[in-house]
Amino acid sequence: MIKLYNFDELKPEEILNRDIRAEKNVEDVVDAIIADVRARGDDALKDYALKFDGATIENLQVTQAEIDEAFAGMDPYFLETLRQAAENIEQFHRQQVHKNFVMNDRPGIVLGQKYTPIEKAGVYVPGGTAAYPSTVLMDVIPAKVAGVSEIVMTTPAGKDGKVNPVILAAAATAGVTKIFKTGGAQAVAALAYGTQSIPAVDKIVGPGNIYVATAKRKVFGKVGIDMIAGPSEILVLADGSCDPAWVAADLLSQAEHDRLASPVLVTDSADLAKAVQAELEVQIPQLPRAAIARASVDDNGKIILCTDLHKAIEACNIIAPEHLEVCVEDPFGVLNEIRNAGSVFLGRNVPEALGDYFAGPNHTLPTSGTARFSSPLGVDDFVKKSSFIYYTRDALEAVAPRIADFAEREGLHAHARSVTIRYEK
Ligand code: NAD
Repeated sequence: MIKLYNFDELKPEEILNRDIRAEKNVEDVVDAIIADVRARGDDALKDYALKFDGATIENLQVTQAEIDEAFAGMDPYFLETLRQAAENIEQFHRQQVHKNFVMNDRPGIVLGQKYTPIEKAGVYVPGGTAAYPSTVLMDVIPAKVAGVSEIVMTTPAGKDGKVNPVILAAAATAGVTKIFKTGGAQAVAALAYGTQSIPAVDKIVGPGNIYVATAKRKVFGKVGIDMIAGPSEILVLADGSCDPAWVAADLLSQAEHDRLASPVLVTDSADLAKAVQAELEVQIPQLPRAAIARASVDDNGKIILCTDLHKAIEACNIIAPEHLEVCVEDPFGVLNEIRNAGSVFLGRNVPEALGDYFAGPNHTLPTSGTARFSSPLGVDDFVKKSSFIYYTRDALEAVAPRIADFAEREGLHAHARSVTIRYEK
């Protein structure tokens, strides 16, 4: 049964019991896989596909015929859903595109900043225990909107050596055609260092299990990464007029992901707390993934009872959840007080699943309290900023003594001379 706590009796470390560091043995396994992929390339990828996925792979790259076949065989209703979801995601992310700027209000001086898309992005799509076509849309579309010229997708094949057709249908919808059958740490290593058939990319994005997350951490520096995603989290902030069955259903929508997923209810109503606790016991056994949901709710779930709504919001900001549902009378009134959350779902009619699949904002979100300092995946993840400076000879001369003086005070004489030499007779 989910545990009940009083907010005032909890220490911050008891509220935040998330740790995303991998076990030492996972670190060792991942180190060995990365070294092997760097040494043996495609052959290593094929060996790991057999070892971990039970798949015999001849050609790592998915052919256009395989993509076309998956698309043609897909239920038209689902294809239309993918198309509508893709449109919503594209429209939302178009709003994130930044404008270059130029400042030229002082004589002889031009300053500015320009955005350039990264050239090659690698998108990891998990495929071990389930297929995530939504992740394909959420990770590929912002890259497209940003103007990335080459998108390389990897995902593990099934035992039949094929990529799940729903993944390929989503890839076709999002417009990615370079897809490789490899998963886990080996896929991350291949994207970072390149193999005979997989091009090395500049940045790797996308969620995955602990092997994927650990590999991303290890290749960071050689390539960029979006984030280290931990297990899923949902925090429902609910007042006493919420339907406990709806709240329980929303908590379970994340609990079914993973035994380590964290479903948390924060409320100012003791009656709702008790009712949700009971309702979870009714709903868990009805789920096909009941065993996973049970472990998540019992081991990582919490109900935190607060004396008032203000305290409840404070609890949300301490937890900094990946997903925050605000199920209260005036959700927009609360929004300004929310400082730490990956994505906020406002009102009683916005189950998190709406955002997972369809509404438009990204579902790849910061977990494990990292929403305190990081943001959802978006167009920003696929662009770089460069600043630029232009001074005329006269404009530089006017400030040359100051720059030379500044440089001398840092003991950097060559810096100073690079300025003064321009004005020596
Ligand atoms: P995955 O694709 O991440 O991992 C499968 C791969 O893990 C295998 O191909 C294999 O290479 C590797 N692997 C498995 N066992 C191994 C071992 N013993 N040693 C070395 N490598 C091994 O798929 P998954 O396992 O189903 O995990 C997907 C994860 O992604 C879940 O945690 C899920 O919650 C998460 N997810 C998150 C989001 C999000 O947006 N935050 C979306 C979708 C999925």
